[in-house]
Amino acid sequence: MTETARIVEIRELSVPLKGQVANAVVNFAEHDVSLVAVMSNVMRNGKPVVGLGFNSIGRFAQGGLLNRRFIPRVLAAMPDSLGGGPNGGPDPAKVRAVAMRNEKPGGHGDRAAAVAALELAVWDLAAKLGDEPAWVTMARAYGTTPHRDGSPVYAAGGYYYDGMSKGSLAEELAGYLDQGFTSVKMKIGGASLAEDTARIEEAIGMLGGADRVAVDANGRFDRAEALSWGRHLDGYGLRWLEEMGDPLDYGVHAALVAEIDTAIATGENLFSRQDVRNLLAFGAPRPGKDIFQMDAGLSYGLGEYAGMIADLESAGHRREQVMPHGGHLINLHIVTALGLGGCEAYPKVFVPFGGYAPQCRLQDGRISPSDAPGFGLEQKVDLQPEIERILA
Ligand code: MG
Repeated sequence: MTETARIVEIRELSVPLKGQVANAVVNFAEHDVSLVAVMSNVMRNGKPVVGLGFNSIGRFAQGGLLNRRFIPRVLAAMPDSLGGGPNGGPDPAKVRAVAMRNEKPGGHGDRAAAVAALELAVWDLAAKLGDEPAWVTMARAYGTTPHRDGSPVYAAGGYYYDGMSKGSLAEELAGYLDQGFTSVKMKIGGASLAEDTARIEEAIGMLGGADRVAVDANGRFDRAEALSWGRHLDGYGLRWLEEMGDPLDYGVHAALVAEIDTAIATGENLFSRQDVRNLLAFGAPRPGKDIFQMDAGLSYGLGEYAGMIADLESAGHRREQVMPHGGHLINLHIVTALGLGGCEAYPKVFVPFGGYAPQCRLQDGRISPSDAPGFGLEQKVDLQPEIERILA
């Protein structure tokens, strides 16, 4: 047990993503992410211990919601009322509950990402107070069996780049193989079926098997297109087909799993336990087969996320089927802590939040966090200038 810590200040910094990439629906050139710093009263080496978090990738920075609603509510709470968390720090669940005062149920959306950034920063603070990696703190808090020998990881790429020349996909995939990845995910639906089929066949050839290649349509297809593309792709034996239809159209999910043998992946656009319960009730996911990609950083943080996993297990699914969206250090720690099926990585995109620190070990398709305290965001070279800015 270390000294009791109180929150004395909370800051938010909106950081633009670098890199010109797009999937079938979204161009990320205009995207940004909220970096949140939770400053404590505990001093170490002449500096306050600070928890850092962010709201994953893909849903924009949430400075307005954080600065107008969630941060003032937390700062207005009596500091002692937020205590009792891991390592003598504030309790992430209490911080979330206070932040959500006067909020109506439902309508999760951007609010879920804003609160997540704050809640995850509190977990980082807790781990740093205990001078331990965040996965250690989280595994202890949830009584889970962590991955001690690395977590499965795949390279998410195969985007449609501006002015992509023929051969770019092969170069990109060769780079992933060189780095130690053994499986990949690529975007589909941004080109014709014939063009994408050629891209998929090229990837299968390079990876050495269709079970090493997953594809992601980012919710682009209507019901008829989802089914026709699904039928066409089913014969390849791909690892999974991701977001084939609208993420909230559970009927499309049910129709796909009724007809298609390949695993169906979804969940990155579900932001609450109730959304996941609806997927279970109406989407008919297959235990032991289909893939769940909810992301704590987009759905109120680790507390809500752990609840989603409990709901999945109650319905007969296994945590090996859970592979969160968002290839970054926070989700690496969550996957490691909770013993999930694996995580993704964005080796070249979503800078400075995507990807891992050089101290993380990647070998034979598995990745391990470093032993840095917290999420180790300070070790991520391209994030260091932003951390300096938020702490200045
Ligand atoms: Mg996706």
